[in-house]
Amino acid sequence: MLRKFLFSLSLMSATLVFAEPVKVMTSFSILGDVTRQIGGDKVEVSEIVKANQDMHIYRITPQDAKRLQNVQLILLNGKGFESNEFVKAAKAANVPVILASNHIESVRRDDEHQHEHAHEHEHEHHHEHAHHHHGGDDPHVWQDPVFMKQYSRNIADALSKVDPKNKDYYSSKLKKYQQQLDDLDALAQQSFAHIPQDKRKVLTSHDSFAYFGARYQVKFLAPQGVAEDSEPSAKQMAEIIRTVKKENIRAVFIENISNPKLLNRLSQETGVAVTGKLYSDALPENGSYVEMMKHNIETLSKAMK
Ligand SMILES: [Zn+2]
Repeated sequence: MLRKFLFSLSLMSATLVFAEPVKVMTSFSILGDVTRQIGGDKVEVSEIVKANQDMHIYRITPQDAKRLQNVQLILLNGKGFESNEFVKAAKAANVPVILASNHIESVRRDDEHQHEHAHEHEHEHHHEHAHHHHGGDDPHVWQDPVFMKQYSRNIADALSKVDPKNKDYYSSKLKKYQQQLDDLDALAQQSFAHIPQDKRKVLTSHDSFAYFGARYQVKFLAPQGVAEDSEPSAKQMAEIIRTVKKENIRAVFIENISNPKLLNRLSQETGVAVTGKLYSDALPENGSYVEMMKHNIETLSKAMK
């Protein structure tokens, strides 16, 4: 008995000595979660922009730049999601920097005109914010579970490169995770299958769902000039109501309206109840990417019916 105990004790210390997890820094919560799913107990993952935090307003700090230097691998989303300063700090850290969105084709936007308009307007009022959505590629590739199969493959490849002895471990984790992504895609297909095309319309102030919309033929409309982080004015609210009526939209998600008077007015004039929340660029506290997507799929399919 004692011998057995001593034996397992020595095994344990051997594990502690030889299996130092690979330190990985990721730029935001969704990428952090997927990296944990693929890396399992072989990695120690941190993120710069945490759950419930907003990449739009994040500015790299000297402390965070330092954190980037204390890891063996840095994973960024790419496609302009991280600010230029962020990317610069990552490159200066002198460790491999890999973009998880490599080899993923950017979605084509069909609302370029409207988008540009919103852009000008936002600039008048929000000079201090980095709006990664505007200009160039759309970074929000994670909103498409099918594209996430490539995204997670890129992560597995990056981990295998810095930690080749665990290559098989990462590829078996990857396979299991890609199965979950297939299930997620099947769930979305099923959930929306019964919703006719002319009802697949959503109004939301998050301009982050172009990939989701392209994959599942859902039209996402953004109220013009309404920022994600500020209350719409009475004039903007009138515009929102007009759009909801004109397009006959049942699904409205504008979480930044906290004024109950505005919400009442919207539901009274349109008959649409504004409830629920869509997650766009950050996980909820302790949430996973797969759970986040399940939540969005369920919330959207209920609202569009
Ligand atoms: Zn965004």
